[in-house]
Amino acid sequence: MSIATHALQYGSGVFGGIRGYVQPDTSVHIFRLNDHVQRIRRSARLIGISIDPDEEKLTKIIIELVKRNQPAQNFYIRPFAYKSGLDLPPGMHGVADGLAIYMASLGKFLGTDEKGVLVKVSSWRRVSDTAVSARGKISGAYTNSSLAKDEAVELGYDDAILLNESGSVAEASTCNLFMVRDGQLVTPPVSENILEGITRKSVMQLAKDLGIEVVERTINRTELYIADEVVLCGTAVELSWVSKVDNQVVGSGQKGEVFSKLSKAFHDILTGKSDTHKDWLTSVSW
Ligand code: PMP
Repeated sequence: MSIATHALQYGSGVFGGIRGYVQPDTSVHIFRLNDHVQRIRRSARLIGISIDPDEEKLTKIIIELVKRNQPAQNFYIRPFAYKSGLDLPPGMHGVADGLAIYMASLGKFLGTDEKGVLVKVSSWRRVSDTAVSARGKISGAYTNSSLAKDEAVELGYDDAILLNESGSVAEASTCNLFMVRDGQLVTPPVSENILEGITRKSVMQLAKDLGIEVVERTINRTELYIADEVVLCGTAVELSWVSKVDNQVVGSGQKGEVFSKLSKAFHDILTGKSDTHKDWLTSVSW
């Protein structure tokens, strides 16, 4: 690949991040593969990359990749559609498109299950839909996540919470956010400059299954300080609970009840212990 590749120079790529879970027999479960394939296609449309082959073919290629690799550990699949032409100007019209897919082992991502995640409200704001959309996974826009994450880690936190340009809570550097207030599970709507997260959608469904009321509304920064629980979710982090926001203890400072229920329901599905939402898993064996 040339150093002059448009996507490398201008961040004109879109990607997916999909998890696979190894099962006790020689099979794996891929989590919400169809939704991920659909989102890659939507992300591509956001910046005018055309993905060939079609949705079904792309799904088949991903399954074939997994079969050929025969993973022995939980893993992550990264499809990447990008402007592969070598054009010098930033314009994307007429620049060739490319598609590559790779996979790698992936265990725990944040590794903070017992102490909870320490987050800091970032001095960086989430990219705005009026500039580069946050709703899809656009490579160039991830510099925003990188800056926020690095700032937080350098200051001793695990992750950053980004506010949007209006000053409302958007999401963490690579995960969506929920808070629990008075028994309601609250999350910012997709119009608040957040990634349209697939784990977010799953958590909302699981909450409904458990009889927990879900509300999509604007969240103010200081609501996080008085929330009963703050929960992060995403493909890599799965479900994680936040123990402190800006050094303020969230709720009791312990793993919360709502988090525990959601996390159990989520893991029961991934491990095949639950009979619900079987359609979220694509079983692959070789
Ligand atoms: N927000 C951002 C910025 C992300 O990078 C991710 C990870 N894909 C998420 C949220 C969570 O999305 P998903 O559940 O679809 O992985």
